Formats: sequence, structure tokens, C-alpha cells
Amino acid sequence: AKQDGRSCARFFEPEMDRQLRERRQLEQKLRDAVQFQRFTLHFQPLIKSDSRQVCAFEALLRWQDPELGLILPDRFIPLAEETGLIRPIGDWVLIEACRQAQLWPSDIRVAVNVSPVQFRTGRVPESVARAIYSSGLEPSRLEIEITESVLLSDDSNTLDQLNEIKELGVRVVLDDFGTGYSSLSYLRRFAFDKLKMDKSFVQEIHESGVLAIVRTVAKLGECLGIETTAEGIETEEQARCVREEGFTQIQGYLYGKPLPAEELDTAFQLGQYH
Ligand code: C2E
Ligand code: CA
Ligand code: CA
Ligand code: CA
Repeated sequence: AKQDGRSCARFFEPEMDRQLRERRQLEQKLRDAVQFQRFTLHFQPLIKSDSRQVCAFEALLRWQDPELGLILPDRFIPLAEETGLIRPIGDWVLIEACRQAQLWPSDIRVAVNVSPVQFRTGRVPESVARAIYSSGLEPSRLEIEITESVLLSDDSNTLDQLNEIKELGVRVVLDDFGTGYSSLSYLRRFAFDKLKMDKSFVQEIHESGVLAIVRTVAKLGECLGIETTAEGIETEEQARCVREEGFTQIQGYLYGKPLPAEELDTAFQLGQYH
């Protein structure tokens, strides 16, 4: 048996070695990126259903590596979470997003994604407060987007932090709504200011039963008296559908892909308000 185990280990070793080496390389590059400030934010518009005006931009993190090029968050956020680097990165995102938003017309908000790990291993309210004070941004213009997994563990620590963020006057949004294990129970535990329906529902809207769910999410937001965003809208037909169902905000490639801050002015005529 011992012999078997060893030959098995030998068979997998090169592949595991490679994966481990790649991970260590990426981790080192991520540390460099934090040290040398190689992150940028792209911004994607959220459109009000009734007025069809831009009401907010969501900040989406990008990593520019000299060798690897532009790296999307799905590739490095998990690593940043495992290594704790998500805390300095997340603090930078908050400060930079608020600094940019301060340059926009005052009726446009900014939405920032915050990882559950930032809540579990640090203190988010302090980071939010610092970003607000350093930028001078009106707190009600900042939205913190969290996913349902933030409330998975039953600890009061995260809930306390969410309440503290709300006390600052900052809005708290439940992102990717409908994908968690007990979506409805989370709504009882915290008074979110907005529900963002996960984009998989829009993408599968033609499948049996999905339209009923979409309709129910819009209705749920209406009954709770809070806003609802449908994200991942790529076609006119999808836009018409979620608008008809009652979503108060729409977001997706149809209205704009995430863009660097310098390009927002030209793309969305923000200057006309100044
Ligand atoms: P998310 O918060 O659900 O963000 C929406 C993602 O969908 C973004 O991907 C966005 O570019 C993409 N998207 C927008 N419109 C459309 C559309 O019409 N169709 C399709 N197919 N996709 C669309 P992105 O920028 O790659 O970000 C992926 C995820 O990474 C985000 O999902 C969020 O969970 C995370 N993330 C991004 N920035 C940050 C950050 O600053 N901090 C943390 N903790 N997480 C972040
Ligand atoms: Ca989000
Ligand atoms: Ca989402
Ligand atoms: Ca997501």
C-alpha cells in the first residue's frame, strides 16, 4: 500500500508543483501590486427606470500587471481574500471610489463592493468613515454592496458593522440577491436599502419559472419600500421586461460597460451638470 501511495504521489507531483508555483507567483505579484499601486477602478452606470438617467456608478476593481496585462477581479479577489491583502486593497477601493464620486454631479451615487472577509477579519465602518472624511463625499452618496454570504455565519460582528455603516448615513445594498442559501431570512436580519438581483435570473429569463422569480423580486422590493436593481441587462428586450416587472434601476452592457473614470465624462455627459 505504501508503494502505491508513493507512485501515486509521484504521478501528481509535477502538476501540483506547477499549480503551487503559479499561485506563489501570483501572490507575489499581488503583493507588488499593493505596494506599487497597480490597481485602477472602472465604473459602470446604473440607470433609473423611470427617468432613464444615470443615478449611480458601480466601482469595479482592475489590476494592471506589467507582464500579465489587465486582470479581472474573479482571478485575484479569492487570492486577495486568502492572503489578507483584501484589506489594504479594499481600503484603497473605498478611498478612490469616493474621491472620484466627489467629482461627479451630486445626484449620482457610487457603489463599492466589500468582501465578507473584510468584515470577518477587520473593521469596515472605520474604513468607510475614513473614505468619506478624506473625500468629503456626502455619506448618502455611497452604497456598500455586500453578497448574501456575508450573513452566512451567525455572528453578530458583521451585523453590528452593517448597522454602524448605516448610522454613518451610508446605504447598504444586498448584491447577487437570490443566489444564497436563505435569501429571504437575510432580509429579516438587516434593513437593506436596495436589492440587486443576481444577473443569472435575467440571463435565464426564458426558462420556465424564472420570470415568476424576477417578478417576485421586484414586488418584494416594492413591498419593503426599497429600490431594486436588475443587473446584467444586455438586450432591449431584457430591459423592457425588467422595467415592466417594476425594477427601479437597471445595469448592464446595454447601458454601458465598466469604463475608466476619465472616460465617464465623454460617455455620459457628466459635465453638463457642473
Ligand atoms: P458583481 O459585483 O456582481 O459585479 C458585476 C459583474 O458583472 C462585473 O464583473 C461586471 O463587469 C459584470 N457585468 C456588468 N454588466 C454585465 C452584463 O451586461 N453582462 C455580463 N455578462 N456581465 C456584466 P467584474 O468587473 O469582472 O467583477 C466580478 C466580481 O468581482 C464582482 O461581481 C464583484 O463580486 C467582484 N469585485 C469587483 N470589484 C470588486 C472590489 O472592488 N472589491 C471586491 N471585494 N470585489 C469586487
Ligand atoms: Ca456588485
Ligand atoms: Ca452582482
Ligand atoms: Ca458576483
